[in-house]
Amino acid sequence: MSDCLFCKFVRKEIPTRVVFEDDSCLAFEDINPKAPVHVLVIPKKHVASINVMTMEDEAVLGHLAFAARQIALEKKIDQSGYRAVFNTGPDAGQSVFHIHLHLLGGRPLAWPPG
Ligand code: 5GP
Ligand code: ZN
Repeated sequence: MSDCLFCKFVRKEIPTRVVFEDDSCLAFEDINPKAPVHVLVIPKKHVASINVMTMEDEAVLGHLAFAARQIALEKKIDQSGYRAVFNTGPDAGQSVFHIHLHLLGGRPLAWPPG
């Protein structure tokens, strides 16, 4: 999508701090981290949110969890623990409408979230 910020990261039109990339996903440091580790993992395909995903997106979105595990290993938070979350819609505070998995860790995370 031409005017989507995260699509611009995928196309390398805007630089960002990439921590992982493969054929179907890109992961980069969140610009406003909420934890010592805060990485966003996105599909290279533009999908606005979970609300509009289709069955053909299932595999690539599942792959985001696989990539998150790899990043958690590299960031050494796999044993201490981490959270992987998709904010969806206004009540969850979704602000960027290109699906992104937040990978958060490196400190105890309260539950339930605020
Ligand atoms: P949401 O609120 O949609 O769940 O999460 C969007 C996330 O994108 C936020 O955590 C925000 O800090 C991050 N973000 C917004 N703009 C940028 C940017 O330009 N670069 C990076 N790396 N992260 C961004
Ligand atoms: Zn996009």
